[in-house]
Amino acid sequence: MLDATGRNLDYLRLSLTDRCNLRCVYCMPKEGVAWKSHDDILRFEESLRLCRLLCELGIRRIKLTGGEPLIRRGVDNFIRQLRKIPELEQVTLTTNGHVLGDFLDRLGQEAVTLIDGINISLNTTDPATYAAMARFDGLNLAMNGMRRAIEAGISVKLNCVPVRGLNEGDLVNLALEAKSAVKAVRFIELMPMGVAAGLKGIPMAEIIALFEKNFGPLIRDDAPMGNGPAVYYRVSGFKGKIGFISSMSEIFCAGCNRLRLSSDGYLKACLASDKGSDLKALLRSGASDEALKEVMLRLVASKPKAHSFVGSSKPEDDKGPSEERTYQGPEGMYRIGG
Ligand code: SAM
Ligand code: SF4
Repeated sequence: MLDATGRNLDYLRLSLTDRCNLRCVYCMPKEGVAWKSHDDILRFEESLRLCRLLCELGIRRIKLTGGEPLIRRGVDNFIRQLRKIPELEQVTLTTNGHVLGDFLDRLGQEAVTLIDGINISLNTTDPATYAAMARFDGLNLAMNGMRRAIEAGISVKLNCVPVRGLNEGDLVNLALEAKSAVKAVRFIELMPMGVAAGLKGIPMAEIIALFEKNFGPLIRDDAPMGNGPAVYYRVSGFKGKIGFISSMSEIFCAGCNRLRLSSDGYLKACLASDKGSDLKALLRSGASDEALKEVMLRLVASKPKAHSFVGSSKPEDDKGPSEERTYQGPEGMYRIGG
């Protein structure tokens, strides 16, 4: 699927739920949010139909996200069905890891064939900092999830969002997880969405300087890895890599290959946009496959050239398909899945 600027969109981030068992400071308010009702969320058969159509149009890789995707009941069977889509080459997921062990138990030997990779959100290896950032005292659960995924033979990357005054003292220790345990530890610049607007991120250049002071030179590694905009480095003595996703300090929209489908059925072409195509309404009003594909392609054609989180909440040229509804948000990453 080519957009108006020639970018090939072959990667979908599919949010399975807006619900979560944590309340990370940069994602959800402390008091929680009013969850979408069951009826507002796409049923699995609806998600499967949309995924099948998107794959017919060119999607090849799907990342399951949320909220916390693994707390959605029936997720295991959903993944089994998803893997039957012939064009789909890769299924990965991003999780906080807390119920990952149970999920892997349910999948058993199948896990490694059903799941091509798991990103685990881990901001620190310090229990108190973890409890402060996730607003839940559960570092042991996340670490156990990580250990179980590695034992299952699945490729694991860790995702950390550095936040000034919270985990900035823990970044070196977290990076050490890439010495042997995981394929990569990635540092993601804080995006000022919703509740995160009141927090301060840490520029990647500062973190690179910190790591070079502690580990020696970071050597850029341009070998392809993953689906996104991360830039990877090798460090002497480390088996895994260190990655940086500099969404704020280096706008990488020119290479953006993604679409997003929220759990309530909005297809979005840009994370920062409040525009989306309300596919759930179309589905439930009896739209044909062809009609749905037409709307998908119109949204793709309108993909903004670049986000502009800095200084404005609107993407640079966000026209959006005028006939579709405005997405209510974004108020936090849990609504759209990162
Ligand atoms: N619950 C799962 C998890 O935490 O991995 C999946 C959903 S979460 C919204 C997806 C990703 O978004 C996580 O890696 C999380 O750290 C990241 N995220 C959430 N809010 C963010 C923000 N304001 N800036 C940057 N990344 C954010
Ligand atoms: Fe939940 Fe993930 Fe958001 Fe944390 S980042 S509150 S784990 S959805």
